[in-house]
Amino acid sequence: MTSGGIQRRGLMLVLSSPSGAGKSTIARTLLESDREIGISVSVTTRPRRQSEIEGVHYHFVSKREFERLRDSDSLLEWAEVHGNFYGTPREPVEKAIGEGRDMLFDIDWQGAQQLQEKMGADIVSIFILPPTMAELQSRLHRRAEDTEEVIQTRLANSRAEISHWHEYDYIIVNEDLNTAFDSVQSIVKAERLRRERRHGLFDFVSVLVE
Ligand code: GDP
Ligand code: ADP
Ligand code: 5GP
Repeated sequence: MTSGGIQRRGLMLVLSSPSGAGKSTIARTLLESDREIGISVSVTTRPRRQSEIEGVHYHFVSKREFERLRDSDSLLEWAEVHGNFYGTPREPVEKAIGEGRDMLFDIDWQGAQQLQEKMGADIVSIFILPPTMAELQSRLHRRAEDTEEVIQTRLANSRAEISHWHEYDYIIVNEDLNTAFDSVQSIVKAERLRRERRHGLFDFVSVLVE
C-alpha cells in the first residue's frame, strides 16, 4: 500500500543459481532487511543439513509424502534437482499474492520455468553467478554442510544450471556479497514501482490534475 489509495500486486521474486553461488545467503539477508517480503518454504526429500530447521528452511518429507502432495495438486511446481525432489507448496503462494504480499523463491531453473508459465506477469527472476568456477568449488567446501560426494554432484550439475542464465530478467555476479545484495535490493525497489503492478494510479492521477 502506498499513498493516495495506490495498491500494489505482490511480486514473486525468483532466485536461481548453481549450488554454492550464494542464493541462500542473499535470500536470508533480504528477508532480514525487508519486512515486506516473505519466503516460500519448499518441500524436499533431501536429508536435512545440520544447520537447517524443519519448517524454516524446508519442509523435509519422505518420497511417499512428496508424491502424495504432488499428485493432489498441492504443489505449484516441482522438480528433481541433484537427485532429490523439491516443490513449492501452492497455498501459501496463492494467499500471499492475493493479499498483495511479496514472496521470494529459492528454486532451480526448472521451477523458474514452471512459475513463469503459470504466473508470468507477477514474476521477477534473478540468476546469480559465481565469479569463477574455482570460487564456486571453494564456497561449497567452505560451507561444509554436504559430503564430498554431494559436492561433486552439485559441481557437475553447475554447468547445466548456468546454461539457463539467459532465461532470467536480471543477472548478478556474486563476487562481493554486499555489492551483490545491493543489486538485489535495487531490483526489488524498482520492480515495486512498476506502473503495471500498481492499482489506483488512474484515480490518483485524475485527482492530481483535477
Ligand atoms: P543450494 O543450491 O545450496 O541452495 O541447495 P538446495 O538443496 O537448497 O537446493 C537444491 C536445488 O533445488 C536448487 O537448484 C534450488 O534452486 C532448487 N530448489 C529449491 N527449492 C525449490 C523449489 O521449491 N522448487 C524448485 N523447482 N526447485 C527448488
Ligand atoms: P547457495 O544457496 O547458492 O547454494 P550459499 O548461500 O549457501 O549458496 O553460499 C555458499 C557459501 O558461500 C556459503 O558458505 C556462503 O557463506 C558463501 N558465500 C556466499 N556469497 C559469498 C561471497 N560473495 N563471497 C564469499 N563467500 C560467499
Ligand atoms: P539445496 O539442496 O542446496 O537446499 O537446494 C538445491 C537446489 O534446489 C537449489 O538450487 C534450490 O534453489 C533448489 N530448490 C529448492 N527448493 C526448490 C523447489 O521447491 N523447487 C525447485 N524447483 N527447486 C528448488
